[in-house]
Amino acid sequence: MQEDNYRHKGMRKILVEELKNKGISDENVLNAINAVPRHVFLDSSFLNFAYQDKAFPIGSGQTISQPFTVAFQSSLLEIKKNMKVLEIGTGSGYQACVLAEMGAKVFSIERQRKLYTKTKAFLAEFPYRIKMFLGDGNKGLPTYGPFDRILITAAAPEIPQALVDQLKVGGMMVIPLCENEEHQTMLRLTKQEDGTLKREEYGDFRFVPMLKGVGED
Ligand code: SAH
Repeated sequence: MQEDNYRHKGMRKILVEELKNKGISDENVLNAINAVPRHVFLDSSFLNFAYQDKAFPIGSGQTISQPFTVAFQSSLLEIKKNMKVLEIGTGSGYQACVLAEMGAKVFSIERQRKLYTKTKAFLAEFPYRIKMFLGDGNKGLPTYGPFDRILITAAAPEIPQALVDQLKVGGMMVIPLCENEEHQTMLRLTKQEDGTLKREEYGDFRFVPMLKGVGED
C-alpha cells in the first residue's frame, strides 16, 4: 500500500474543513474522513485529485464517490458502534472503510467481478471489519440480515423490496432514487413497526446506475 505521510494528512485536514464548510457536522463522520487515507484508493499519479472534493474514475467504468457525497450519506445513516450495515456498490471500497472507521460492521456487495476481486484484495490490507460479496445488490444478503442500516451507492431505479425486507424495524436505508435520467433524489427511509417506510428527501445527487445481475468487468 502507498504510504500515508504528513503531507497526505495535511491534505485530509483541509478536505475535512471544506466538508465542514459545506455543512457536514457529524463529528464521527468528519473523524472517519480524517482517518481514512483516500489517496491510497487512487493510482499514485493522481495524488493531487485524491483530496479534492470530486468523484474520480477507478476503472471498469466506475467512480469513487465525491467526499461530500460519502460524508453526506454517512451522516444520514446515523451510525452507532457495532451496527450491521449493508452497502450496495463496493466500488473502490472507500465508503466501506469510512463506515468501518465509524465503528460499523460492514457487509458490502459489488456486481462487477474484476472490480470485486481487485477491491477485495486491497481491503484485506486494512484492519477493518468489512465482508465483501460478489452479487446483485438488489437481492441483498438474506442470510446475513437483518441490518440496522442499508446504504445504496448507485442510482436506484426503484426501492428494492428484498432490501426493505432485510432492514430491521427502526432501521434506515439511504438510497439515491432515480427521478429521471440525470438526477437522483437522496432518500432516507426508516422502517416503521407496521413495515411501512417513513420517507425523508435530501436533494439531488448523481451516481452511476444500479444495474441488475453480475458483470465481468
Ligand atoms: N461506494 C463506492 C462508489 C460506488 S460507484 C466507493 O466508495 O468507491 C457504484 C458501484 O455500484 C459500482 O462499483 C457499480 O459496479 C456498483 N453497482 C451497480 N449496481 C450494482 C448492484 N446491483 N449490485 C452491486 N453493486 C452494484
